[in-house]
Amino acid sequence: MNAETFAERRRRAGDAAEAAGLAGLLVSPGPDLAYLTGHTPPPLERLTMLLLVTGREPILVVPALERLLAEHAPGAAGLEMLDWRDGEDPYRHVARALPAGRYAVTDQTWASHLLELDHATADCLFVAAGKILPLLRAVKDADEVDRLRAAGRAADATFDDVVQLAFAGRRELDVAADLERLLRSHGHQRVDFTIVGAGPNSASPHHHAGERPIEVGDAVVMDFGGVLNGYCSDLTRTVVVGEPADELRRVHEVVRAAQQAAFEATRPGVAAGEVDRAARTVIAEAGYADRFLHRTGHGIGLEVHEPPYIVEGDTTPLIAGMTFSDEPGIYLEGRFGVRIEDQVVVTDAGADRLNDAVRDLLPVV
Ligand code: ZN
Ligand code: ZN
Ligand code: ZN
Repeated sequence: MNAETFAERRRRAGDAAEAAGLAGLLVSPGPDLAYLTGHTPPPLERLTMLLLVTGREPILVVPALERLLAEHAPGAAGLEMLDWRDGEDPYRHVARALPAGRYAVTDQTWASHLLELDHATADCLFVAAGKILPLLRAVKDADEVDRLRAAGRAADATFDDVVQLAFAGRRELDVAADLERLLRSHGHQRVDFTIVGAGPNSASPHHHAGERPIEVGDAVVMDFGGVLNGYCSDLTRTVVVGEPADELRRVHEVVRAAQQAAFEATRPGVAAGEVDRAARTVIAEAGYADRFLHRTGHGIGLEVHEPPYIVEGDTTPLIAGMTFSDEPGIYLEGRFGVRIEDQVVVTDAGADRLNDAVRDLLPVV
């Protein structure tokens, strides 16, 4: 990604803020600052803040000791830097640069910074950027989709490898450690989660892998992901140790059909909630409506959960380039659960999957 890409993103963000009736957008370290500048300072207490004020050039406020780091960020060209030294009050610098008005503040801004800023300004009102500009990073460019695809392929390869290993008799934690190691061996720089839920634990969608030894007949839900070259992976598959019981086989078929229905409902112009509805209808018709405990999906990019959210009632129209998960599940408490998750990208014609790992109820040993 070159400096021009970042400058263009800042222009787009500034325009969106103006169109939303804001005086500007204040961006803190985290995915939004990375997206708009490429600058990723250490997450410490000193104030770093990008000021996108309507009608003015962008300003990056940085601690003096991180000025060089900021100047070397891939999107630094065209950014005015305003540095402050330890012992100075950085909030006064920011306050002086902000005309009166309403400003969106990115969601990862620390409360301590926002409270100081509120104190230092007289006629500024602050609102949550996630509420007012939720789609800032939602439509990916070709380079971002390529990175998400690469992360997805690495997750697929991790799944292909893990099902070759023994499950029965080992603990969930052992399989989770395998997933972590395999994700790294397939290029991930960071691993963020390795959910392994076996037997009754598979009915808890965010189960923490634990000491339970995996048994023959268990359904095993594996949901894992991390970061490869800045972009996230997130893949879920459910396997069975040995032969599946009839109901597990049936529930898996229902979840797979629901996942496919959501995929087929995905195309530009369709509301996010309609995609959720497509999956939910399949599960409801099979009699498991109240056992689908969560929304169908979440956006993915620099963050593993970001807008758009594929949730009942959401009217956000899908746009080509949006990327999100398609991950329905059925959870039978005390018995077993099944979830199948792929990442997808909205295309002009419909949608493409970013994951291709086999979606059958694979038997493992
Ligand atoms: Zn989840
Ligand atoms: Zn997941
Ligand atoms: Zn997910």
